[in-house]
Amino acid sequence: MTTDLPRDDGLVDMLSRVRRTIRDYLRTKHRVEDANQHPIAAILAARAVADAARQDMLSHARRARGAGVPWRDLAEPLGVDQSDTWVDPPGEAFRLVAGPPPMPYDPIYATWSCASCEQVITDSGPLAGHPTDAEKGHRDDCRRYANEIAAYEART
Ligand SMILES: [Zn+2]
Repeated sequence: MTTDLPRDDGLVDMLSRVRRTIRDYLRTKHRVEDANQHPIAAILAARAVADAARQDMLSHARRARGAGVPWRDLAEPLGVDQSDTWVDPPGEAFRLVAGPPPMPYDPIYATWSCASCEQVITDSGPLAGHPTDAEKGHRDDCRRYANEIAAYEART
């Protein structure tokens, strides 16, 4: 089961501002006072906001990977359904961030910038196993990479 987003006052206020922004957009761009008057424009505006929020979410996930957050710790905040026994949460988190392959059956990769060695890393995901197989591009003296390797070897 995924954890619901916290419904604290700050989040509720933020979502209210987003909805107000969409209403203001519809009012100024389409001169409608009620989204029901122009549902297609309302859908497009809401989708633009959702797409931007999704891109922000994925960007934050890539930055978290760069800082050393493992895929398994990203699954829940990314909304991966953890109650489905057929779903591998770390693998699903990786697939979400990596996106679809360029061609069917092509391998997928997530790329992110390493916060330690500042290199762009090509990440093959948790099923690749050892970090030396999963993460390509670190500098030889990268502290994050050394920590990732030590954590992996301690688990296996
Ligand atoms: Zn690195």
